[in-house]
Amino acid sequence: MRRPFVAGNWKMNKGPKEAAALAGQILSEIAGVNNVDIAIAPVAISLASVHLVLQNTNLKMAAQNMFYEESGAYTGELSPLMLNEIGCKYAIIGHSERRQIFGEDDELINRKTRAAISHGIQPIVCCGETLEERESGSTNDKVAFQVKAALSGIRMEDASKITVAYEPIWAIGTGRTASPEQAQEVHAMIRNLLAEIFNSAAADQIRIQYGGSVKPANIEELIAKTDIDGALVGGASLKADSFAAIIKACV
Ligand code: PEP
Repeated sequence: MRRPFVAGNWKMNKGPKEAAALAGQILSEIAGVNNVDIAIAPVAISLASVHLVLQNTNLKMAAQNMFYEESGAYTGELSPLMLNEIGCKYAIIGHSERRQIFGEDDELINRKTRAAISHGIQPIVCCGETLEERESGSTNDKVAFQVKAALSGIRMEDASKITVAYEPIWAIGTGRTASPEQAQEVHAMIRNLLAEIFNSAAADQIRIQYGGSVKPANIEELIAKTDIDGALVGGASLKADSFAAIIKACV
């Protein structure tokens, strides 16, 4: 039985003060909620203030991005060592905005995924197709390619540290959600692929989140699907009550 995992991606919103306040509100909303893993991913400059609020709680922190080197001449990047120091349990790797706006390719995403694991940070590896790819029937090929590339070289014993987030690009921030059936179909394909990459016992342990306009109104039917193990939430994670409602629906 996989434990549900809900993560909120705050993107480039909420500076240090607002982020700490929102983290505190979320903590009060989810007091007493058990049996679900929960994380928030503040913008890098807000990690320190949020960390202070989250200490010794069940709300964990994720970075929105991470570089694969430990230190050096990489202007603007964040090192896995620094993320460890600031208390990040997870890092979102290969979000479609990083791929599309910042040109991240599959090889870079693989290096970041491997670096996260070797530094004890659990990667949330994102994949997903464009609208054109869905309409031309190449969703499974695209997503399978991304997952294989991202996980290349990951050892079987590290498989359970990985979360895969399936996020159809046409559903991100658009208010358009994949239907539960559309999402389940891709999640099942990903799980089969994970069984090929690792083995079926390992594939059974890996959480696959759905992301793309998840909100309190649609989470229940999504999480009811066999291979949907939680959600990566953008917009709806910026309000404590809607994020908490999504979390509670996943318990
Ligand atoms: C995301 O950015 O990962 C996301 C799923 O955003 P939204 O929930 O706003 O569609």
